[in-house]
Amino acid sequence: MVVKCIVCPNKYGPLSQISFHRFPLCAERFKQWAMLCRQNDLIDVDPSYCNQHYKLCSRHFNQSQFAWTRLISNAVPSKFQWNGYLYDEQEIAANSCTGPDLLSIIFSTIHKLHSISLNVRVIISDLGSNLKNLVDTRHITLETPYFNVSGKEIVFMFDPPHLLKATRNYFFNYRFKSLNKVAEKIHLKEFYKLDKSQVHRLAPKLTDIHLNSNSFQKIRVKYASQIFSHTIVAGMTTLISISSKISDGNKIGSKRFCLPFTNSEDQTSFLNCMTNYFKHLKVQKFDALKNEWISINRQYNIKFINSWLISIAGLICLYSNSSNNDQEISNLEICTYRLNQDCLENFFGTVRTQNRNCINPTCIQFKRTFKKLFVMNYFEYSEGANCVKD
Ligand SMILES: [Zn+2]
Repeated sequence: MVVKCIVCPNKYGPLSQISFHRFPLCAERFKQWAMLCRQNDLIDVDPSYCNQHYKLCSRHFNQSQFAWTRLISNAVPSKFQWNGYLYDEQEIAANSCTGPDLLSIIFSTIHKLHSISLNVRVIISDLGSNLKNLVDTRHITLETPYFNVSGKEIVFMFDPPHLLKATRNYFFNYRFKSLNKVAEKIHLKEFYKLDKSQVHRLAPKLTDIHLNSNSFQKIRVKYASQIFSHTIVAGMTTLISISSKISDGNKIGSKRFCLPFTNSEDQTSFLNCMTNYFKHLKVQKFDALKNEWISINRQYNIKFINSWLISIAGLICLYSNSSNNDQEISNLEICTYRLNQDCLENFFGTVRTQNRNCINPTCIQFKRTFKKLFVMNYFEYSEGANCVKD
């Protein structure tokens, strides 16, 4: 049975720092608790029944009511939404916000940043469903990968690490068919089987973990990105050209993205090639009854194809916007390595390690942590460092 609070949505979780406390058996104290909790229908219920079945979470008690982690014998709850106490300390990380709320937060944040002359050019998002609202209502498409905030174009892109992992997951569960070429996990497996017996390997980084990762390893981006790496494509193409050991060609094409994006011919032709690939991409699953491969409906199920298309168009749009705005910059370079939400994830990770590893900081704690981290890192002297930490 799930242990949960009778007043607020808090539930027991293995990492939660919230404790849950039974209603008192003493009739007088029980009545006091029930009234404070604004649970009037409980008042006439037998205290021993409530003691067995209902609990109140630690958020409703002042620190003074605890002796270590247990409540003192005459503890009384005092923090509730109705007296405004809980509202101030509302957890900010407990629930994700809804699409419309998120939209208004994004818009007001962009306005605030513009008002202090910080020019927002691009927004990076993960594949969360509440962001889909933004994509739908603002009509963000392959042709218009941006939206307007007070007359300024803000380019929209998806977080490439998330996209890589989503693509890998689909690739492993289904097969890809585009431009009459088929790519399947089995090709990769065959390639790995041949390659791993060699002393000098074509793709030395490819390991068992890449092909059979557990749920922790699945989160690591490198196990997804290395599958689509240039080395593996080159290795497979070499094997195909010298023998027919691999049944079909996996010539998706790949390019190193360690270099900054300068809109060079190589880079644009690669991006065009990928756009073309994704436009024609069909994700297929094997239907055992019909004994054939059938395409799964891409509109409803597969987010990653459209997301890649928007992100690629977004990058090109970002480049042309930036080079138009800053005409004094002759050789504009965009470090695509920075176009992801890693810094944000690192930031929230650091916030959570503060306050004694509090994973659900309150608004006040968050504000204090932000100030502390900002001051500590903003004035940090970097010893001739070439690049900044997040
Ligand atoms: Zn509660």
